[in-house]
Amino acid sequence: MKNRWSDKDAADIVRRYADQGVGEDLALRVYTSRLLGADPRLVQHGGGNTSVKTTAPDVAGDSLDVLCVKGSGWDLEFIEPAGLPAVRMDRLLALRRLSTLTDEAMVDAQRGALLDSTAPNPSVETLLHAWIPAKFVDHTHANAVLALSDQPDGEARCRSLYGERMAVAPYCMAGFSLAQTAAAVVEAHPRAEGMILHKHGIFTWGDSAQKSYARMIEMVSMAEAAIAAGANRSLPQAPLDAETAPLHQVAPILRGALAEALGGGRWSRVVLDHRGDDAAITYAGGEAVGRYSQGGPVTPDHVIRIKPWPLLLPQPRIGDLAAFAAAAVVAIDAYADRYRAYFARQDAAAGGGRTMLDPWPRWLLVPGLGLFGVGDTAKAAAIAADIGETNAAVITQAESCGRFEGITEADVFEMEYWSLEQAKLGKAKRAPLAGQVVAVTGGGGTIGAATARAFAAQGAAVVVLDRDLEAAQVSAAACKGMALECDVTVSGDVGDAFARIAEIHGGLDILVSNAGAAFTGKIGEVSDATLRESFELNFFAHQSAAQAAVRIMRQQGTGGVLLFNASKQALNPGPDFGPYGLAKAALLALSRQYAVDHGPDGIRANAVNADRIRSNLLSSDMIADRSQARGLSEQAYMGGNLLGQEVTAEDVAQAFVALALAEKTTAAVLTVDGGNIAAAVR
Ligand code: ZN
Repeated sequence: MKNRWSDKDAADIVRRYADQGVGEDLALRVYTSRLLGADPRLVQHGGGNTSVKTTAPDVAGDSLDVLCVKGSGWDLEFIEPAGLPAVRMDRLLALRRLSTLTDEAMVDAQRGALLDSTAPNPSVETLLHAWIPAKFVDHTHANAVLALSDQPDGEARCRSLYGERMAVAPYCMAGFSLAQTAAAVVEAHPRAEGMILHKHGIFTWGDSAQKSYARMIEMVSMAEAAIAAGANRSLPQAPLDAETAPLHQVAPILRGALAEALGGGRWSRVVLDHRGDDAAITYAGGEAVGRYSQGGPVTPDHVIRIKPWPLLLPQPRIGDLAAFAAAAVVAIDAYADRYRAYFARQDAAAGGGRTMLDPWPRWLLVPGLGLFGVGDTAKAAAIAADIGETNAAVITQAESCGRFEGITEADVFEMEYWSLEQAKLGKAKRAPLAGQVVAVTGGGGTIGAATARAFAAQGAAVVVLDRDLEAAQVSAAACKGMALECDVTVSGDVGDAFARIAEIHGGLDILVSNAGAAFTGKIGEVSDATLRESFELNFFAHQSAAQAAVRIMRQQGTGGVLLFNASKQALNPGPDFGPYGLAKAALLALSRQYAVDHGPDGIRANAVNADRIRSNLLSSDMIADRSQARGLSEQAYMGGNLLGQEVTAEDVAQAFVALALAEKTTAAVLTVDGGNIAAAVR
């Protein structure tokens, strides 16, 4: 592991923060915290914490001894001075006299000692930082240290590697008792440069930010070298007796099996995030995966994100997906039963009275394919997959030189059902479209981009499709979605794009079939070519996209919604708009046909009838021509409706969202035109 300290970068950051009134101690604390945070082999997603003992003025101007320690909700990789709130040292040192303190009282005392009452909660490991005498203290959950420590003889391995340089503290639950235990260990080893927290992580310290960081890198590198020296085997693989089915066919089956039926045709769905590199495939395909993957997380923190164990699934064999689908349902039910039994057993052992969390897995192991993270948003699924990969990496290392052994089930439970975590229950509100995946064709255009943003705002994972990749990327960036290049008139493109959607998020629930363009010509004179070109884009492309979407939806077995941009022309033909209007009229019929044929699959189909939207569909030239033809100003033409208001792309986007949320509505047309009685649906 490389030491990435740079004198120049350190000086730059000190200078930059000095301009903002931030002192050198805190500036350097920010610098090395970010160095630690940037390496996923050290910490991930809010894990780890750092501190510096310095001085800060209180409101009266008196200088106080303070501990600037990582605040909750901050990630080391992106930390700012505000993420290291100052806590009065005298108050923290006074707590050392106590023999017990509840977690709630500890959190309260720490908050009460903040200099800024609006600062985030100081880390739950604040007392441990305060009671270590060194000025700078760094704490990570480094992979290599965990691989060495997470062994039946892990403490002995650490002692023999580090000797007197590192103190070793036995496993202890985070909070007050860990701080007491660790502080006593540090006092017994006054010359130690750091401390191993058995089966949890590593602390290093020093009188400068550079020294504490350098020690972290050195100690972790020593663990890496010891593992490499002791490594005598890679994970033996279980033989696969057939070819594995492709990811894009397997993922929708898993996603469907993981969805929870809420009754009345409603589902609570999840988003998947697949990882299929060699490491993931080797880990999932190991002969002993049933043992090494089920022994708890590699550090206690991870249980909050990924539950005590991943779900193990059988290999999905090509040509035999029905058997895999049945096995997946059985395996998921068995996982939930096992989780309920674990909860009942450990809750009773710990005195009872806790509220059970949901019993569903957060990551999956699939021989032949690798691992999947599971979450109710794309981000949550990615975090679960990242932490799953870290667990796989640590356990693979541990098994290469010994045998992985995590913390006990009781310790896992104590962390998962920590009172500080239980207090957060019920506070997170699930967004209306959380867990759902939406694809928007023509997603780079005005209406498409507004629609992508509107669905993202409701919690959906969004995939933007457009034949112009750059436009798709701009639109996707605005809604934190994914961009895919796809010309919907090319059926190969459509097939590839929908397979990619299944690979990226595990499937699809909502299609907004929006791509289109206006074609004009007097119907008695227009060329066949123009008419056919319009039908390709304004009818057949919708059919290709809808068919690809329905295929995925049926694999999932959890219904879905098709939403078509039908336009006003489908109902109220305008002069010279035949080529466009005829295709749109057929599109409206297509929407109703899907409602009829796939209603029994729980798939709804609805259309939006919109008019006079300033968009790439109706170019400014066309708007100018049409307003001129009616002898109106452009503004009067655009707002020429019963409400006298211009209709925007956002209005159309809201209509698509409303139709997605209207769970009992199918074969409907929703008008978004500010009122045009000639185009009203009869
Ligand atoms: Zn920790």
